[in-house]
This record gives sequence, C-alpha cells and structure tokens, in this order.
Amino acid sequence: MNVFEYHAPKSLKEAVDYLLEKGENTMILNGGTDLIVRMRDCHIKPDYVMDIKKIDGLTDIKFENGKVFIGACVTLNDLGLHPRIQKSYPYLAQAALSIGSRQVRNRATCIGNICNASPLADTATPLLSLDAKVHIYSKSGERDVALSDFFVFVRKTILKHGEIVTGITFDDVKSLGIFTKVSRRKEVDLSTVCATVIKTDDTYAISCGAVAPTPIRLHETEALLNSKELTEELIKEASEHAYHEVTPISDIRATEDYRREMVKVLLKHSLNEWL
Ligand SMILES: Cc1cc2nc3c(=O)[nH]c(=O)nc-3n(C[C@H](O)[C@H](O)[C@H](O)COP(=O)(O)OP(=O)(O)OC[C@H]3O[C@@H](n4cnc5c(N)ncnc54)[C@H](O)[C@@H]3O)c2cc1C
Repeated sequence: MNVFEYHAPKSLKEAVDYLLEKGENTMILNGGTDLIVRMRDCHIKPDYVMDIKKIDGLTDIKFENGKVFIGACVTLNDLGLHPRIQKSYPYLAQAALSIGSRQVRNRATCIGNICNASPLADTATPLLSLDAKVHIYSKSGERDVALSDFFVFVRKTILKHGEIVTGITFDDVKSLGIFTKVSRRKEVDLSTVCATVIKTDDTYAISCGAVAPTPIRLHETEALLNSKELTEELIKEASEHAYHEVTPISDIRATEDYRREMVKVLLKHSLNEWL
C-alpha cells in the first residue's frame, strides 16, 4: 500500500472543498471494505484518502413524506436489521445481510456497495427494482440521478470528481418482493447471480446482478409480464425471455450459460410465489 494523507472532514462543504483542492487522486473512504482491499492489493494508489464518516446526518434511515431515505454512511447491518426495513422491505434487508460476514457488514455501507459499482453488488438489485434515486452533492449544489442511470460500466459510475453521494431514496409504497442470491457457499461469498423481483399492485419489476457489466433491470421481460395476467404459461415465457435478455460472461464463478439458466430459474421461482 502506498503512503497517503488521511483527512476526515466534518461537513459536506469541507469535504467537497478538500476533494477539489487535492485533485483527482483523492479517494472517498466510507466503510473501506472495497477501497482498502483495492489499496492493499495496489490496484489503486491514492495520494489522499478522505473519510466521510465524521460528517453529520449521513447515518440516518428516514421514513418521511412518502419516501424512504438511506444515508451514505448507513452500514449494511444497520440497514438489514432496521425494524421498518425488515417489515416493509424484507428483500432489501435480506440483500444487505447477504453481504460478507457480520464483521464486514458492521463497516460496509449500502452506498459504498452502490458507488463501488460491481456488477454483482447485492443491494443494487432491490434498489433498482424500487426505482431508487441517488442523491449527489457537489460545489454546484445537489442533484438526483436514477440508480439505473448511475451505473455506467464495471466499477464506473456517472460520479465526477468533487461529487459525493449523500444517500439514496425510493417511494415508500406497499410492495411484495423476493431477493435471491446464488453463490458457491452459503455465507461470505459473492453472488454468482442475484436477483430481486418486486410486485407492486399488478406490476412487476425485475433486476439482476452478475449478468451484465452493471446490475440491470430486465425491462423487456417486465413489459411481457405486465401486459398479461400471471399464469404458469406466462411465467414460462417470461423466464425464457429473461434467459435471452441478460448478457453474462463466463468467469471463475460460473459459465455464461449457467448464469442464464439461473436467471430463468430465479425468475420462475419468484413469480411462482404469486400465482
Ligand atoms: C470479505 C468480504 C466479503 C464481501 N462480500 C460481498 C458480497 O457478498 N456482496 C457484495 O455485493 N459485496 C461484497 N463485498 C464488498 C463490500 O463489502 C461492499 O461493496 C461494501 O458494501 C462497500 O461499502 P464500503 O462502505 O465498505 O465502501 P468503501 O470501500 O469505503 O468504498 C467503495 C467505493 O465507493 C466509493 N464511495 C463510497 N462512499 C461514497 C460516497 N458517499 N460518495 C462517493 N463515492 C463513495 C469509494 O470511493 C470506493 O470507490 C465483500 C467485501 C469483503 C471484504
């Protein structure tokens, strides 16, 4: 690991000023469970590391004005064990608690999971299906971006230097949802494929991870499902469609074809719950 300067600002303004003053080789540190590993392995060598955990207001989970807000420094354990999240969004809680070990989840944050932009980020699929919006703070003010537009490619987001994610929100609506993770081990393993299917009234939203360069929504399969009444026949047709809609690769965890098959199986199992 290279030598770097560490700084922990107390406000968002101070944080943005620091990022702009120190330049592009400054990295934002949240829980550090991705960042520090990448620094240790010399994949990145920042000259400056800016810890955002001392900034006020970033550890809140709020239910206000018909929206749910998850602050940038909310850990995966705090999210997954939150009573209202568990009650209203059990599939989001399960996704959060499926990550790493208890020790990892005590440090790792949901927003870090999103900003890291891994194709297999487990909390991305429930949040994509919930049409979540990412809140971004910079010198020129605040902007909101749909999570689906936030991801650009593997480990690449639309964030520009000098921007900080302050949290993520989604509409507090009644929904049913199922999160599923296929991995080689039951615990402390990355997803070979993960998926979240949500049913709001009679509309379905489907998101998958580890089947494309970024976590994705399956819009074509959703359109097919949302055009007709749910039947065994439609589930079969939709699962087949999903198989072709995803674009996975083969890697050490699985082959491309296995991942496509898993998408088919996960979708079929999830939709069968609502027949
Ligand atoms: C043993 C182990 C097991 C794991 N298992 C899983 C798993 O099963 N599933 C899974 O999805 N992940 C897994 N991970 C990866 C990791 O724990 C998660 O991605 C975690 O949620 C990242 O959050 P963090 O707060 O630690 O982020 P950090 O490491 O602090 O940051 C990650 C990236 O996001 C950027 N960033 C963080 N916060 C902000 C912000 N507010 N604004 C702008 N940029 C920001 C950082 O600069 C960095 O580039 C595992 C990691 C380990 C070490």
